[in-house]
Amino acid sequence: MAKTVQDGSTPSRSSYDVIVIGAGIIGSAVAYQIARRSDMTVLVIDKAAGPATGSTGASVAISRCRYTVPEVVRLAQSSQVAYRSWKEFTGLANPTNDYTQMGALWVLDRTDEELRSDYARLRDNGVATEILSSSDVLGRWPELDLCVERVDFSALEDHECRSGNSFLYENEAGIADPAGANSDLVAAARQVGAEICFEVGVADLLFSDDRVTGVRTANDVDVHAEVVVNAAGPWCNWINEIAGAQRRWTLTPTRIQLILREWSDDDPRLPITLDGSTDGAYRIERSGRQILLVSPEIPEFMEPTSNPDYFRVNPDQACVEATLAAFQHRVPGIKHVGTTTGLCGLYTINKQDDHPIVGPSHTQGLWLANGFSGHGFKLAPGIGAMIARALTGKTDSFDPDIADDLFSIDRRELSTSGGVFA
Ligand SMILES: Cc1cc2nc3c(=O)[nH]c(=O)nc-3n(C[C@H](O)[C@H](O)[C@H](O)COP(=O)(O)OP(=O)(O)OC[C@H]3O[C@@H](n4cnc5c(N)ncnc54)[C@H](O)[C@@H]3O)c2cc1C
Repeated sequence: MAKTVQDGSTPSRSSYDVIVIGAGIIGSAVAYQIARRSDMTVLVIDKAAGPATGSTGASVAISRCRYTVPEVVRLAQSSQVAYRSWKEFTGLANPTNDYTQMGALWVLDRTDEELRSDYARLRDNGVATEILSSSDVLGRWPELDLCVERVDFSALEDHECRSGNSFLYENEAGIADPAGANSDLVAAARQVGAEICFEVGVADLLFSDDRVTGVRTANDVDVHAEVVVNAAGPWCNWINEIAGAQRRWTLTPTRIQLILREWSDDDPRLPITLDGSTDGAYRIERSGRQILLVSPEIPEFMEPTSNPDYFRVNPDQACVEATLAAFQHRVPGIKHVGTTTGLCGLYTINKQDDHPIVGPSHTQGLWLANGFSGHGFKLAPGIGAMIARALTGKTDSFDPDIADDLFSIDRRELSTSGGVFA
């Protein structure tokens, strides 16, 4: 089919090779990766008014590569290279997003053997990594406390610190601008011929003999396709339910609370910190004027929601206090001055193994890119490539060196050694 390009809010044709539901970081990456390497016609439909209104808009957009499964390390690493080379990757003359390298320190309770194994896995898969002794760490960031004992928020006064000896440090870890990156991928996809329509909701799927053959929009327009990709983020489940597409994995949209604290020139320049005592994460905003604290990942602060359209966007006071206490535990000398605000967003947590489901579903014609938990931003360029490569049979620059069925619906559970950090 010949491509035509249209940027409006109404699909320009009645039939495409591929329809992607959702123009978040995942759907826009899928569309861009298909269109940049093939002549396939691609339509992306999103019910929102623009990019980054779902999970992507709330992301703290940390790119780091320590994962338990070597292939996931390579996926994260190749995606990090795409973020680091954003202009070249997107082909945009003036992209909005850029990448700020900050380095990431893992403060985990690991034996020397486990740490050496983590280090070898990263190094062998191309990730610039160091093992730092506690004196190395304190030489660079004397403000940090290196306690690795788990923090029990119900008995904070009983907490006894126990310092770790050695820590993993990812030199090239960094942050991006989630809304900017999402907007850039939409622009990049359009530039190579994909059509992206906002303010068009998908209300139903079209079927022929149990095969998904397209979508029906909320304004009753039927649009047909060989393949429909469900990239609807926290809204993914109802689409899969209509299609009977997957029952194997429990994908739970979950409210995650993010605390934003004012930061000043007098405050320390800390690395991105992945905190195993609380399963929280911290990183300074590029302006240096704010620090973003992802709240401790404990059930009390992670509320499942059955309707992603309705969740409380303001953090709970108890969570704000616990997050600040956890941060104080990690950086004891910090004085809380200035304003503290916050917002909440949704992770779609894969309850079985924290890894996504990517590829063809159990219903013909419907493909899935669902359940990214807290990992979707950093993996998006590579996830787009995996789907695009499988659909087009074509490779392109920045593609990850992994099998396209790594996250297939019929896979076994993948191992994780870092809890929520996978
Ligand atoms: C607080 C927080 C911090 C995070 N930090 C990180 C991090 O540091 N690093 C990292 O890698 N990841 C992080 N994540 C996770 C990451 O943000 C998500 O995994 C990722 O954004 C998921 O992208 P998505 O495109 O699948 O979903 P979304 O961004 O939610 O996009 C889905 C899109 O589908 C559209 N849609 C839904 N239903 C329909 C329909 N019926 N019709 C049409 N359109 C529809 C929605 O409008 C939306 O635009 C974080 C998430 C949160 C909430």
